[in-house]
Amino acid sequence: MRLRAVNLLTEKPYTGRFAPTPTGPLHQGSLVAALASYLDAHHHHGKWLLRMEDLDPPREDKAARELIPQQLLAHDLKWHGDMEYQSHNGQRYGDALAQLKHSQLLFPCTCSRKMLAQHSGLHQGNCHSLTAQQADTPHAWRLPVNDETWSFQDQVYGDYGHNLLTTVGDQVLKRKDGPYAYQLAVVVDDEHAGINHVVRGLDLLDNTPRQLYLMACLNYDAPRYLHLPLILNPQGQKLSKQNQARALDLTTTQQNLLDALRFLNQPLPPTELTRHNQQILNWAITHWSVPSIPTSQAGLI
Ligand code: GLU
Repeated sequence: MRLRAVNLLTEKPYTGRFAPTPTGPLHQGSLVAALASYLDAHHHHGKWLLRMEDLDPPREDKAARELIPQQLLAHDLKWHGDMEYQSHNGQRYGDALAQLKHSQLLFPCTCSRKMLAQHSGLHQGNCHSLTAQQADTPHAWRLPVNDETWSFQDQVYGDYGHNLLTTVGDQVLKRKDGPYAYQLAVVVDDEHAGINHVVRGLDLLDNTPRQLYLMACLNYDAPRYLHLPLILNPQGQKLSKQNQARALDLTTTQQNLLDALRFLNQPLPPTELTRHNQQILNWAITHWSVPSIPTSQAGLI
């Protein structure tokens, strides 16, 4: 198995982001990701951007799109510049898709969910040689993967990688019913915004190798990655709207920030510096410690 080395962009000024999907209001688990990405950016005197990942309207909650920025501001987590919306970036994704088509890296795929399900969702390569003209029924656009391991060094979890052929299979970049895939959108938007540091939840660790592969196909440089342990509910599930995670209580913002810092095993400010969010944030920026972040994901709340 061959290990692919990825060029890391470290010399440009730090640009990070928080990129929530508006499936529901932010909960304490999302605050951990927002806060850690904010602190890492500010500790490095970088920019922290906000991108609303509203790519899939049926899964989304319109109210959450409005509420999320208010929840961040209630915690004094202010982003740099204007918030970006993925729903406005269709042209950008179309251009990236056209670039890949032009490089003859994509193929149209007419496989049904049922056909794919017989092979655990892995594409079997049966339409690799199909052309768009031959695929006269509605089709997805897929990026074939090869039998290689794509790995990277995560700042918390260390070396991580897997073979894309056996784990992910040929990736859909545009679905048969029209929408662009999340994997394409995230890679294209990060490149467009000059993101060179990605700080996000551990649930996305296994998305990273396929995103690195896609970046290589598009000739993008890879960012540095820092994945965070997840807060789990007593059933051992990641907090989410599906399992009724409670929205952040905006009457206890200092406590929410302190709880998030405690979860990340960060040094806590002295009590006299905990009256205002900004005092807590300033302390946490100065004392931000990546080596202290625990790797255990079983942080119950
Ligand atoms: N939108 C994703 C989420 O809310 C995060 C994507 C990312 O940080 O790359 O889980």
